[in-house]
Amino acid sequence: MELTILIVEDEEAIREMLLMVLKQSGLKTLAVESAEDALQFLADKPLPDLLVLDWMLPGISGIKLTQRLKKDEQYQQLPIILLTARGEEEDKIKGLDCGADDYITKPFSPKELIARIKAVMRRNMPKEKTAPLVVGRISLNQEQHRLNIDNQNIDISPTEFRLMQFFMTHQDKVYTRTQLLDYVWGRNTYVEERTVDVHIRRLRKILARYQCDTLIQTVRGFGYRFSLAD
Ligand code: CA
Repeated sequence: MELTILIVEDEEAIREMLLMVLKQSGLKTLAVESAEDALQFLADKPLPDLLVLDWMLPGISGIKLTQRLKKDEQYQQLPIILLTARGEEEDKIKGLDCGADDYITKPFSPKELIARIKAVMRRNMPKEKTAPLVVGRISLNQEQHRLNIDNQNIDISPTEFRLMQFFMTHQDKVYTRTQLLDYVWGRNTYVEERTVDVHIRRLRKILARYQCDTLIQTVRGFGYRFSLAD
């Protein structure tokens, strides 16, 4: 994945140095000279992946810009590394308090800056969301471990959750109790086949409240099937 970094720095020498260093390490890098230009840039262009922002800027300061961006829903996810010549602990706290994701004091080595950028990017990687499983009116939220029917959240036990997850991803096929034990409980658990019936019964009871219990069908002499069809 190619990352785009936007540098906001008024001092030309430092700006050029940053551009060179970041480009050399394979980052797509753009630069502007002021917070006002940065705001313009953000409004006009696709959002960069990270901002390297100087604290001391003419006009709107780096801190003010950080505060403004972090309050704006559109930009609050945009990671910001503040650059400054100040090194005092108090300033550092102020820098992070305003919402900056990290802080780096001039002079710094290019290596340090790259390392900080990478660390901030890692922390900000969007966590992969697992989409809910949906079958008919039922959805199973795999992150919250919750069943949802007709927009009602229903808490279910871990076993019933796994059973439901298995059924929803293996529709219309008949599974024997032994197969369900293997797939849902795991091959190395020693549970009686009757346990499957107990959990199926519990699941049906929950589903029955929403007239969905017919989804789990008993196939005599074989086992169970989960199907929207009768
Ligand atoms: Ca400056």
